[in-house]
Amino acid sequence: HADHARPDVLTLEEVLARDPGTFRVLTGDRPTGALHVGHLFGTLATRVALQRHGVETFVVVADYQVITDRDDAGDLPATVREVVLDYLAAGLDPEATTVFVHSDVPAVHQLMLPFLSLVTVAELDRNPTVKAELAASGRALSALLLTYPVHQAADILSVRGTLVPVGRDQLPHLELTRTVARRFTRRYGPVLTEPTALLSQAPLVLGTDGAKMSKSRGNAIELRADADATAAAVRGARTDARRTITYDPAHRPEVSNLLLLGALASARTPQDLADEIADGGAAALKAYVTDALVAHLAPVRARRAELARDPFLVRDVLARGAARAAQEADATLADVRRAMRQTS
Ligand code: ATP
Ligand code: MG
Repeated sequence: HADHARPDVLTLEEVLARDPGTFRVLTGDRPTGALHVGHLFGTLATRVALQRHGVETFVVVADYQVITDRDDAGDLPATVREVVLDYLAAGLDPEATTVFVHSDVPAVHQLMLPFLSLVTVAELDRNPTVKAELAASGRALSALLLTYPVHQAADILSVRGTLVPVGRDQLPHLELTRTVARRFTRRYGPVLTEPTALLSQAPLVLGTDGAKMSKSRGNAIELRADADATAAAVRGARTDARRTITYDPAHRPEVSNLLLLGALASARTPQDLADEIADGGAAALKAYVTDALVAHLAPVRARRAELARDPFLVRDVLARGAARAAQEADATLADVRRAMRQTS
């Protein structure tokens, strides 16, 4: 992408080395289940760090996107509540960060219509993350699954997000968002800014089956799980046949993933942890990871249990978030329609 001056992926260190206050963050999750350690180390911890540095942050709970790959969204209000409790327990402060639910902010979805005119079906068809999700769903490709990356562009651009902390699976969607912003600018004028992705040190946490840890795959270690459930999940995690533990993500993805989880949960490097465990094998590695995760997550879990006792907390956070996000999205929609000369 020699034609862009701005890089399309940054690390947290690179953002903090610039002036973090010049960025605005938009990111989010689908309410398809409670959050897991892939979310925590993949994006949630980054969101909390950015918040601490005063970066204005919007987090969307993408309820309209639950049916991209299933017919039944389940008990959505209950799942939304679980996700928001996970956010707050992990350290998102609703006074500093705007948390909102997709369906509460209609202007976001109205923006999707002009944005759809800026991309081709052939471009959408090439998206590797959509392809993987289609294969995992075992269903025919719905038009919603095909176009959800444009919906995500609307999420980001509606609040004029410039920095998007995500896992690696989201990079194709970020590229599409940049394309939408760029084409809009060329066609109608400068209203939208191309956002940059922010990848953490754990952009692709694997689940217990060796595939990407996902709420929908039953391979996750949930943030809300207790010590026994965490131990059971780690015990069941796939490893490989070699006894000696080494950190080698390219050739030993499952073992390296456990080393990364253990290291991130105890502020060490995976390499250093591998050297310590060495001939202890998978059993010693799993014992370490379990203890490290249980200790690291204990305060998150305690806080979560306390927050869950307030029956009105989540409702109030989301009501305030919806009002704030709608203010931004309504203004963006008005600017977009004016630039397109649909209004005067
Ligand atoms: P689902 O299986 O329902 O799609 P999910 O676990 O993939 O759920 P999402 O809500 O789709 O979670 O993703 C929310 C955010 O978390 C995205 O930025 C995504 O990149 C990130 N994320 C999800 N899983 C992981 C993972 N295993 N490692 C790193 N980041 C992840
Ligand atoms: Mg997903």
